[in-house]
Amino acid sequence: MNKARSVEIGGRLEQLRARIRALAEQYGRAPDSVTLLAVSKTFPATDIVAACNAGQTRFGESYLQEAQEKIAQVNGHCTAAAGAPEWHFIGPLQSNKTRHVAELFDWAHSVDSFKLARRLSEQRPSEMTPLQCCLQVNISGEASKSGIPPAQLGELAARTAALPGLRVRGLMAIPARTDEPDAQRRAFAAVRTLFEDLRAQGLELDTLSMGMSGDLEAAIAEGSTLVRVGTGIFGARPPPAGT
Ligand SMILES: *Cc1c(COP(=O)(O)O)cnc(C)c1O
Repeated sequence: MNKARSVEIGGRLEQLRARIRALAEQYGRAPDSVTLLAVSKTFPATDIVAACNAGQTRFGESYLQEAQEKIAQVNGHCTAAAGAPEWHFIGPLQSNKTRHVAELFDWAHSVDSFKLARRLSEQRPSEMTPLQCCLQVNISGEASKSGIPPAQLGELAARTAALPGLRVRGLMAIPARTDEPDAQRRAFAAVRTLFEDLRAQGLELDTLSMGMSGDLEAAIAEGSTLVRVGTGIFGARPPPAGT
């Protein structure tokens, strides 16, 4: 393992955690109300172990085959007091991926249809705890983006909440990219409103998965409980293998 790289990752994590706590306080929230998901897609297993040894336990992956290899390499090698790593699938889901996601991951953030939800539930091994999941909302209405349209969210949430192999924890969104903080906040505020509407209807949700390296502050300002950060921890991303 490369010592300099470990020190770099550990230092970035420490700074980022301090920034997240400070932002939470700045927006009137409890300093520990925002969880950090380290997005390790395209980075090697050695980087994940380094982050683990620096106390990071939650990791996000987007590409199934890459994740399968890395999870096998990492599990058992994280000796951190913080405990075993927790794996979150955050990439686009298709029917041909659900079995592996159901068998390998602790969380799936990109559930956006009942068909996918039902498959994940059926394929979740019975000896495992239910797959924790977020429903992905297409908040900016982009045709190219994954996510359920807001108008269909209520029905999807109610039906998915009844599936035995899943536990619906909240919503995930990736708003249209903009560098304009007010526009970032408006998109996240819209997700938060949907989240609060579902809670008002009786769904027990506790997770708002929103905010990445470039829009972290706006997301925390609007109530994010889980930020997904890759480049802000591991640096610029190499292109995924095979592209
Ligand atoms: C890659 C990715 C991230 C992390 O993005 P960064 O800009 O590297 O912080 C977060 N969420 C999802 C869904 C991603 O695919």
